[in-house]
Amino acid sequence: MNVHDSERMHGLLLAAGLQPVGSAREADVVVVNTCSVREKAEQKLDSELGKLRRLKKQRAGRPVLVLAGCVAQQRGAAALRRMPFIDVVLGPDHLGELPALALAADGGAPAEVRTTFDLDRPAFLALTSEQAAPSAFVSISKGCDERCSFCIVPSTRGPERHRPSAEIIAEVRALVQLGAFEVVLLGQTVNGYRDPSGVLPSEPNDGTGFAMLLRGIAEQVPELRRLRYTSPHPRWYGPAVADAHRDLEVLCHHVHMPVQSGSDRVLKRMIRRYDSAEFLEIARGLRSARSDLTISTDIIVGFPGETDEDFEQTLSIMREARFFGVYAFKYSPRPGTPALRFGDDVPEEVKSERLARVFELSEALQAEHLTSLVGTNQLVLVQEQGPRGDGRLCGHTIRNEIVHLEDSKELGLRAGIVPVRITRAWKHSLEAALLGAPAATRAGGGPVRLPVVTGSDG
Ligand code: SAH
Repeated sequence: MNVHDSERMHGLLLAAGLQPVGSAREADVVVVNTCSVREKAEQKLDSELGKLRRLKKQRAGRPVLVLAGCVAQQRGAAALRRMPFIDVVLGPDHLGELPALALAADGGAPAEVRTTFDLDRPAFLALTSEQAAPSAFVSISKGCDERCSFCIVPSTRGPERHRPSAEIIAEVRALVQLGAFEVVLLGQTVNGYRDPSGVLPSEPNDGTGFAMLLRGIAEQVPELRRLRYTSPHPRWYGPAVADAHRDLEVLCHHVHMPVQSGSDRVLKRMIRRYDSAEFLEIARGLRSARSDLTISTDIIVGFPGETDEDFEQTLSIMREARFFGVYAFKYSPRPGTPALRFGDDVPEEVKSERLARVFELSEALQAEHLTSLVGTNQLVLVQEQGPRGDGRLCGHTIRNEIVHLEDSKELGLRAGIVPVRITRAWKHSLEAALLGAPAATRAGGGPVRLPVVTGSDG
């Protein structure tokens, strides 16, 4: 979600005539987009802001400094009192005002703080770029009405608001026309979606509204090759969503479904409103709809009161759900959250040890899964240079496994869906050789060719 916000702000600044530069030293405007989900991100931010303060001193007040996102929302006017060298404090519901406020500050206007929530007429930033990323984000809702006891998001992003389905479908269509192969629908509890315009049915209130949206996109934008979403909440996984996974070819065979803990006692204290058996039942339902579906997850270790036994249950659910990809975090107390009253009683070294054990098990599960794919043929959405910087391309399958292409250098491909044979499993990714002609590609800078469907993904 933060990446999407940053992309949109980048687009807005380009549309206002600003150009990207290599460093803050050369910039007229610096926007720092921020996350406050864990304390560590905030600490990093403070050291970054310290550097910018020194730079502004050397450069006689330049660049204009915009603090955007969740920390901006959380700190509000206090950010300016503490850090008077900031020019604009911009909460997540005000990103559209960025160009005007930045240009005004550049012209000498006094500092501004924008942190109200747009409750009556929620705005979703329109697309401003001329070419879409091969995998592009579309917001379908914002804010969050869950009250997970550890989470600061409801206070930094406000109450949940949904975007009209026609607007969502129009943006998906526009992105496909601009070259996107895959669209990722975004929302804090994305599967709690209900169409505020009433065009799509949303009853019963169990993920039906979300499933209708998935079907609407599949029907109305048939050129879309892949549809993905993040992040769903287990509470809103009614049978309609699993049915959509069974019926819609375009829907990726992967869900990222945060479990947080495998202990029912801890889940209760986290106010997650499901237990481990219900979570596993949803996983089973999704897998009976799509047998090769992969499930990734988020886990918090060291939540207040988490015993060794609770933690063992987290390891058990990891095995039982056969997670492929785990984002695990040490519990971090956040201001204003209900869990503060529990204290923070799991010692740091216990948190570290538990985190290491989660990663160890996650790697073992991952290795088993990746090894089972060696020798199979897959379709890969290629979208970026591989991490080694040797010109080799990298992409992902419909199940979200990362694939590096062996002989991609000569092809001059920039993006596309290509058939490959998996030749090797690494720790976190696969290696593959291209098979025959690309199924659907887009040459960098050249005209966008709409994807040609050459068989189903997977
Ligand atoms: N809407 C998502 C949460 C988004 S925040 C959900 O369904 O839960 C992304 C992840 O950050 C969460 O899934 C959680 O694992 C982690 N997280 C959130 N608050 C945290 C905290 N106080 N300490 C540690 N991790 C946290």
